Amino acid sequence: EDVRELLLSRIKDVADYPKPGVMFKDITPLLADAKAFAALTDALVALAGRYGATKIVGLEARGFILAAPVAVQAGIGFVPVRKAGKLPGATLAQSYELEYGTAEIEVHAEDLSAGDRVMVIDDVLATGGTAEASLSLIRRAGAEVAGVAVLMELSFLPGRLRLAGALGGAPLDAL
Ligand code: IMP
Repeated sequence: EDVRELLLSRIKDVADYPKPGVMFKDITPLLADAKAFAALTDALVALAGRYGATKIVGLEARGFILAAPVAVQAGIGFVPVRKAGKLPGATLAQSYELEYGTAEIEVHAEDLSAGDRVMVIDDVLATGGTAEASLSLIRRAGAEVAGVAVLMELSFLPGRLRLAGALGGAPLDAL
């Protein structure tokens, strides 16, 4: 409906970025539009309520931008999942497959605990590798996956399928 149209109108398709053949979804016009950013935040806060989330996890780096205002507005804590090597404390690490090679993400072990119901937020779900790895971290920390919410799902890629097992019945919402 209205929100979906507003959000779509503020996302720019950039051809051949970061490499030839890729159509990059640029969300900076959305962030620069106060009304669109607020509408996105409100929609994510509503989902956090529906999930019964007690913690918000944002995925580096655009996921941080979307998730932080949701955590504040929902009145629950924010936990960053970072690329390897950026967190100073004791971490849990998870590596995952990229098109070429592997990547690794980390979370501070003490930021998540048993009893937490965690909502994961990112801008784009593509192959699902990043989100899948983040769900492993959440479970390994002893917490529960409450749901995953992304601004955009690239539905021509099998990300949703790849994530199905890791979700274990938790919802995946693409705005
Ligand atoms: P995946 O692991 O293949 O699902 O890729 C998702 C990650 O890559 C997310 O953290 C996104 O921020 C990033 N990503 C992939 N494609 C795009 C895009 O077109 N625009 C912005 N970010 C993207």
